[in-house]
Amino acid sequence: MTTHYDLIAIGGGSGGLAVCKRAAAHGAKTAVIEGGRLGGACVNVGCVPKKVMWNGAHIAQALQDAPDYGFNLKAPPFSWPTLKQKRDHYVDRLNTLHDANLSKAGVALIRGYARFIDGHTVEVDGHRYSADHVVITTGGRPLLPNIPGAELGITSDGFFELEALPRKVAVVGGGYIGVEIAGVLNALGSQVSLLLRSDEPLGAFDPLIRTTLKTQMVDDGIDLRSRISIEDITLSEKGGLSVVLHDGPELEDFDTLIWAIGRAPNSDQLNIEASGVLCDVRGFIPTDEYQNTNVAGIYAIGDVTGRAALTPVAIAAGRRLADRLFGNQPHSRLDYHNIATVVFSHPPIGSIGLTEPQAREAHGEQVKIYQTRFTPMYHAVTEHKTKTAMKLVCAGEEEKIVGCHIIGLGADEMLQGFAVAINMGATKADFDRTVAIHPTSSEELVTLV
Ligand code: FAD
Ligand code: NDP
Repeated sequence: MTTHYDLIAIGGGSGGLAVCKRAAAHGAKTAVIEGGRLGGACVNVGCVPKKVMWNGAHIAQALQDAPDYGFNLKAPPFSWPTLKQKRDHYVDRLNTLHDANLSKAGVALIRGYARFIDGHTVEVDGHRYSADHVVITTGGRPLLPNIPGAELGITSDGFFELEALPRKVAVVGGGYIGVEIAGVLNALGSQVSLLLRSDEPLGAFDPLIRTTLKTQMVDDGIDLRSRISIEDITLSEKGGLSVVLHDGPELEDFDTLIWAIGRAPNSDQLNIEASGVLCDVRGFIPTDEYQNTNVAGIYAIGDVTGRAALTPVAIAAGRRLADRLFGNQPHSRLDYHNIATVVFSHPPIGSIGLTEPQAREAHGEQVKIYQTRFTPMYHAVTEHKTKTAMKLVCAGEEEKIVGCHIIGLGADEMLQGFAVAINMGATKADFDRTVAIHPTSSEELVTLV
């Protein structure tokens, strides 16, 4: 027997939970199918446990600065197992909470992995379920490189399973995950090498951000190696890992190696051919601006689409889709333009809109840049210092702000409000008209000349 729903989401992560709950709120009969832990990557192996670790790293740095603020503490011992245990407990609570919230919302939860039987029917552990609308929201998983010894390393998933702070660790990849994990481990006391295949981390970010981050990471003691090409990974007799390079000396004696080289979409275990949905060469599912795949009644949202792999994006796309299908809002869709993002580096980065090179390509001579670099006042009395750098990218005669890029203490909390203004079409004059809040770092953004 096949159970029929108005909408089924395959994947109970950020996107799947959001689309089902919103559809149910509109009165639709919905079910979410989840094979792993409820909440998906964000809750279990992403944003949430990562932010807890970043907070821990923040405390480690504050303790380092404490003597300069008059607290003559003897450096207290750090217990990784305590932090891990409390973090895992928090994640468990969120899993339970998501379960309860689904019941409260009237969304059915089907446990197991789904495979398509046809465009409107899926099978989970021998049971069949059909729906008028099927949303593929299966997210992604970390990639391993295709080189000998790759399996000796772990990925971000394995990072969250570590039972002890690595003594000496190699992090490969300079994207969000590589930068964030390298920063956390360095602050907590590991000896960290960050291995990049390009010159600088965060290749997609504004040059000001990239160069400032690179300098700060090196100043903070990270062994950052650029233009690295890895041939293989080997295990020595003593148990240490070595990174063998195509050119250059072997890097030795790592107890942990973490691959952070991007993520692959979870579209290959779905028997997706039976649905008729087409994937691109890397397995991502292309959609139009309304999240429609090439098959009517089948949609894709979140990381599996390969666009802006961020939790709030998956949630917003899911809610807009449900509003369109069941909420009498036929034009509801997510606008992917001007999405703010934060990298939880040390110090953090906040970024929205066009980088300077992108703006110059789009607007040519009509681009005006305002930027600053300073030492934030927190460091007035501290020996260890970080820099803050900010850039406003403006376009046209009216100097509309088309990009805002910040690296520095507090950037993570600073950007959201500016993102509202920028999405409303703020100009440089609007920023200048706003009276500053003193003494803060964010005041610099409304006083740039
Ligand atoms: P997911 O949340 O991954 O959910 C997909 C779900 O589908 C999973 O639970 C999976 O088990 C399930 N599934 C897969 N196949 C099947 C199947 N066949 N049947 C049933 N279920 C299936 N984003 C931010 O905005 N801020 C951050 O700070 C941040 N930090 C991150 C840190 C890390 C280390 C990582 C890895 C990611 C981070 N992200 C962050 C990205 C964020 O986690 C993702 O963008 C978000 O989780 C995507 O949601 P989703 O619904 O598309 O996929
Ligand atoms: P990213 O795409 O951000 O970065 C991948 C990195 O790996 C790049 O620096 C890339 O280098 C490098 N790389 C790729 N292949 C190789 C290789 N074979 N050898 C060495 N380096 C390689 O992926 P992540 O895995 O870091 O993160 C995935 C996504 O998850 C992010 O894009 C983001 O959307 C999301 N995320 C968001 C977070 C947040 O919001 N704070 C935090 C964590 C993840 P190159 O630059 O040369 O191409």
